[in-house]
Amino acid sequence: MEVYDVIIIGSGPAGLAAAIYAARSELKTLLFTGNSLGGQAALTDEIENYPGFPEGIAGAELTKRMQEQARRFGAEIQMDEVTAVNLKEHPFTVTAYGGDYKCKALIIATGVSPRKLDVPGEEKFIGRGVSFCATCDGFFYKDREVAVIGGGDSAVTEAIYLTRFAKKVYLIHRRDRLRAAPVLQTRAKQNERIEFVWNSVVTEVVGKEAVEGLRLKNVRTGVESFLRVDGIFVYIGQVPNTRLFEGQLELDERGYIVTDRAMHTSVPGVFAAGDVQERVLAQVVTAAATGAIAAVEAEKFIAYLEGREYPGKEWPKAPPG
Ligand code: NAP
Repeated sequence: MEVYDVIIIGSGPAGLAAAIYAARSELKTLLFTGNSLGGQAALTDEIENYPGFPEGIAGAELTKRMQEQARRFGAEIQMDEVTAVNLKEHPFTVTAYGGDYKCKALIIATGVSPRKLDVPGEEKFIGRGVSFCATCDGFFYKDREVAVIGGGDSAVTEAIYLTRFAKKVYLIHRRDRLRAAPVLQTRAKQNERIEFVWNSVVTEVVGKEAVEGLRLKNVRTGVESFLRVDGIFVYIGQVPNTRLFEGQLELDERGYIVTDRAMHTSVPGVFAAGDVQERVLAQVVTAAATGAIAAVEAEKFIAYLEGREYPGKEWPKAPPG
């Protein structure tokens, strides 16, 4: 079986930046996109803080350009999902629906998935009024009323976005203060279509064929109420996509991959980048930066394996296998 220099799992900005750097270093590079191309960033309507785009850029367009750039340097990009990895033997094995693949270095950029509310009705109405993606589903709520749950950057950004369609957006938050950046808070508070519902949690998503409303509970007073809405968008944080690596890599207590500053994981030759690893800032610019670091470190690791000189210190850990 052919052995790739680098396999990258994930096609968000971290994975794509890693592919650009690895392929440009003339490493034989294969990237698996997973089931959605571009990761979380591609679901963002407008990214206005990625350097170089003063007018802002659609997330899907930015990640599409990153893919074109990676291909230009020779990276192979496969629309396939990885179902298993074996990090206990080197070269590492990556199993996708299309078969098994081997690599000298692995870069994990599998990102995060939306956290669910875990209340009755949520699962039942996914796709029938419960959504985790305003960019994908917002259009269906033209002149209707929706609720957004959460108080972070995502909830506030998407609530503002949804006012393009919905005539009313309730922003339901469990505290009386938002976590979101001040610039977003100001915009949301100035938006007449947004109404804040403070100190409240959803206890049930109610409906017959589709969502008809939410049962809410005020966490301060204990008072329960019913809010009539046609749709609900859940933005209460994320969980890392690390199930494949459980028992093979060190994860923190929340399930994120533990890395050092150079994106090394607990297994030599395996690197992690972007939202899937412990990070201080979850932004496209930092995801891309960590992807670049991971690729450069992968290049050094391969040089080390092959007994070639590489810049930097001695490889600090023993080679695997
Ligand atoms: P987040 O910052 O973790 O915020 C999650 C929100 O959900 C918090 O307000 C939290 O409440 C609330 N929450 C958590 N669990 C809940 C539960 N069980 N029930 C009800 N509410 C719950 O997540 P995020 O907004 O998705 O952002 C993730 C990261 O991406 C952040 O670092 C953010 O800065 C970044 N991001 C940035 C942008 C941007 O720059 N435009 C856009 C999107 C995301 P509490 O506040 O009470 O904890």
